[in-house]
Amino acid sequence: MPILPKKKVGLISCSGEELPAGTLSRMATLRVLEQLRPNDTVTLCLPLFLAGDDKERAFAKFYSTIAIDGCDKQCAARATEKYSAKPTTSIIIPEFLAEQDLAAPKTRRQMDAAGESAADALAAEIARNVDEILGVKPAAVVDTPITESEGVTATCSCGSGIPVMRLDIAGKGVEVVALPLIFEESHKDGKSPEQVFDAVKVYNVIPIELESAYREAILRAYAEFVPSEKHVE
Ligand code: SF4
Repeated sequence: MPILPKKKVGLISCSGEELPAGTLSRMATLRVLEQLRPNDTVTLCLPLFLAGDDKERAFAKFYSTIAIDGCDKQCAARATEKYSAKPTTSIIIPEFLAEQDLAAPKTRRQMDAAGESAADALAAEIARNVDEILGVKPAAVVDTPITESEGVTATCSCGSGIPVMRLDIAGKGVEVVALPLIFEESHKDGKSPEQVFDAVKVYNVIPIELESAYREAILRAYAEFVPSEKHVE
């Protein structure tokens, strides 16, 4: 039976290369991923998301996300909402800097002192939102200094976010994206087997000629999952 992963918050920074705020978005996001909340966050790759990666989209559908955009075009927030689900929180950097009375960085390549301060403040704001979403008391997770021996790496949802389940379908081993989460959500909400299968189809491309084989394998796995379901922490 699957053991579901710890809930994490997905951070989606914009890909803006033309504006200093785009650089700021990525710098602050990296600080949160590597230093402030390494165990509670993953990054969602916006280009991969737009390219139609099932795992990225499934992650944003099931888990909370924070979009950090460099301008009011809000590419990260809009793409997330269009292809998966509305971000839990959306930060627009110029608005954030104005509210905090902070100066915007002047260049997009190198951060001056004002840019570094803005990146620190933005990272703290993202971390605060992560705590709020996860219901963690900030006092319990204040910025613990990271020693060299326990250095962390920012994790991308491509490799660690959304669980898959491998099923034997029509004689082949097939990875079904998000299946443990779909099972848990469906069981909690009292969904019918057909609704379970409909949810699976949202996140997985199922060849029409194999639809009945998929249905049979998935509903058999669901019947096995339900009695001994394990919940997310
Ligand atoms: S939100 Fe603004 S800065 Fe970011 S990618 Fe879109 S247009 Fe560029």
